[in-house]
Amino acid sequence: MIPDSHAHLDLIEEDVRDVLSAAASAGVSPVITVGITIDSCLEAVRAASEYPGVFAAVGIHPNDTAGATPEMFDRLEDIARSSERVVAIGETGLDYYRDRSPADRQEWALRRHARLAGALGRALIVHDRQAHGDVMDVLAEECAGDFPVIMHCFSGDESLLSECLSRGYYISFAGPVTFKKNEEARGLAAIVPPDRLLVETDSPFLSPEPFRGKPNTPARVRLVAETLARVRGVPLEELECVLAENTARAFGIDLTEG
Ligand SMILES: [Zn+2]
Ligand SMILES: [Zn+2]
Repeated sequence: MIPDSHAHLDLIEEDVRDVLSAAASAGVSPVITVGITIDSCLEAVRAASEYPGVFAAVGIHPNDTAGATPEMFDRLEDIARSSERVVAIGETGLDYYRDRSPADRQEWALRRHARLAGALGRALIVHDRQAHGDVMDVLAEECAGDFPVIMHCFSGDESLLSECLSRGYYISFAGPVTFKKNEEARGLAAIVPPDRLLVETDSPFLSPEPFRGKPNTPARVRLVAETLARVRGVPLEELECVLAENTARAFGIDLTEG
């Protein structure tokens, strides 16, 4: 089975049952559904408690931090503590590509998320869009290696990759690694040590080739994994085992429980 370490089930327009049965038929499990607002986090926890093979991450997306308050983080902590199926905090981070929240609000929220991940001993899912230097500075201050850090939809270059690896972060690849002109990402995906590698869809965004531009779904994480297996020169079955182990370790999931 191939895990999808990052999807937004609540943002997919199709019925979630159909989405999950298509994922199961494609050999995709588990699916970690990522909340981006308080409502979306509640939705994620509900999906994780209702459907086998679904786990939740809870956070306020950097683009949604303009109105974030300390009370909102108290609420987030309550939600995170409410279920053992909440396996990560996030997604959080810095997004300088979209100008929806002031940078200082985003940074404040990133620090709050990191402290929550530390307090709860759960993984931190980091979104970094055109903010590499600042993201790494804040993480260096807030994450002392006491909880797993996942660089979701990794978009950096080789020097960022080596810094992330030297800190023990996980590197997660999404649909863009399949895009025709993205030789750089494929080159990096080829050299990530096996025990640091994750895959994701970020559904409904970032559909891999040949579905680029169309709504994405967890079933298509298989296309991302196939690209990784090809560039790494390993059989897909071998990579599947590696990805399953990494997902279980990073998120503290017992995969035998489903
Ligand atoms: Zn993201
Ligand atoms: Zn996302």
